[in-house]
Amino acid sequence: MKPIVIIGTGLAGYTLAREFRKLDDITPLYLITADNGSSYYKPMLSSAFTNGKTPETLATASAQQMSEQLHATIRTNSVVTAIDIKTRQIMLEGEIISYGKLVLALGAETVQIPLRGNAASKVMTVNNLDDYARFRHAVAECRHIAIIGPGLIGCEFANDLSNAGKHVTVIGPDATPLGRLLPPEAGSELQDALTRIGIDWRLGVVADKVIYNDAGYRILLSDDTFVDAEVILSAVGLRPNIQLAKEAGLKLNRGIAVDRNLRTSARDVYALGDCMEVEGFVLPFVMPIMHCARTLAKTLTGQATNLHYPAMPVAVKTPAHPVVVSPPPPDASGHWQITRINDGIRGEYRDDHNNLLGFALTGAATADKQMLTKELPPLIP
Ligand SMILES: Cc1cc2nc3c(=O)[nH]c(=O)nc-3n(C[C@H](O)[C@H](O)[C@H](O)COP(=O)(O)OP(=O)(O)OC[C@H]3O[C@@H](n4cnc5c(N)ncnc54)[C@H](O)[C@@H]3O)c2cc1C
Repeated sequence: MKPIVIIGTGLAGYTLAREFRKLDDITPLYLITADNGSSYYKPMLSSAFTNGKTPETLATASAQQMSEQLHATIRTNSVVTAIDIKTRQIMLEGEIISYGKLVLALGAETVQIPLRGNAASKVMTVNNLDDYARFRHAVAECRHIAIIGPGLIGCEFANDLSNAGKHVTVIGPDATPLGRLLPPEAGSELQDALTRIGIDWRLGVVADKVIYNDAGYRILLSDDTFVDAEVILSAVGLRPNIQLAKEAGLKLNRGIAVDRNLRTSARDVYALGDCMEVEGFVLPFVMPIMHCARTLAKTLTGQATNLHYPAMPVAVKTPAHPVVVSPPPPDASGHWQITRINDGIRGEYRDDHNNLLGFALTGAATADKQMLTKELPPLIP
């Protein structure tokens, strides 16, 4: 029997394998990963200090342990370099593997902003456990960290590093933090709370150049001012990892395009997780992965199953001022209704017929999450 091959052992690859094994313990499973295959919960990377975790304790199982749990072969530190959809083979360095069905769980890559200067290449990014181990080592003895990107991941790292006693400056073009997700009132509330724990902001500017001198790094900003720091983290966003699929000739949009069975344009090739796009949605979050993994596991056992996405609000891990957000769809027509409650903001995005299309809750208003989520329409009915 030809194996089901899954490329990727992040949350998408491992969750799918687990869901599949609940339904089928016979079909050979073969997982391949470019990293060491440790199982870890990626959202913990930006709250590790607060939760008393180190890179070592974030890993909950080794590849060997996962292999035993999943009755699967797991090939670690192996980069898949090509997929041949005609012969149903994938190429690794020096090896060819045939698949019966192939699943792409390739994740996302970090967006690199164009920076000038002799130290531009020293700017760090964190999108996996190895990156985090390097970052954690770099910040261990340092006092001042600059974060480029006031979005979800930037704000989470800022709060976490501040909780670890570090001085953090957050830089970005937005007027308020989480500018793409939150209405300005909610962003300001978050900004105020993070300022109260010592975080500095340089908003409305972009980082242009990074230079190194004996005192550390200097980031030159678009308004001709600068920020000095010992470590710089860039958290400006992620984009689906589509290169392998592109070279294999699969249909792409922003992510690897799949239908509601999570099928790509190639026969017996599927995709899920941060690399994938379905019905126009690229959702690089945990909840969509859980829904896709359960759906795809059934499809892989021969019961073709359609994906449904309920509304899936995202909790931002900023304990200084918690935030829960379910952004309105990009093409939604409506407006924000803002209510200020003692310690927080309740923002409801409603259309002209008063239908709720999205919400943003901060501080004490996050208690309304469940009630408002029930009122939201599903993303994919
Ligand atoms: C700091 C941070 C905090 C986050 N916090 C939250 C949160 O609070 N809530 C939330 O919902 N989401 C959060 N997310 C997003 C969430 O963690 C991701 O959506 C999820 O982990 C993505 O899983 P994945 O398996 O799709 O990708 P990944 O975990 O990136 O896995 C990709 C896998 O593909 C492998 N791979 C890629 N290319 C190849 C190749 N050519 N050959 C072999 N292997 C390859 C990699 O080695 C890896 O095993 C956060 C993300 C980050 C970075």
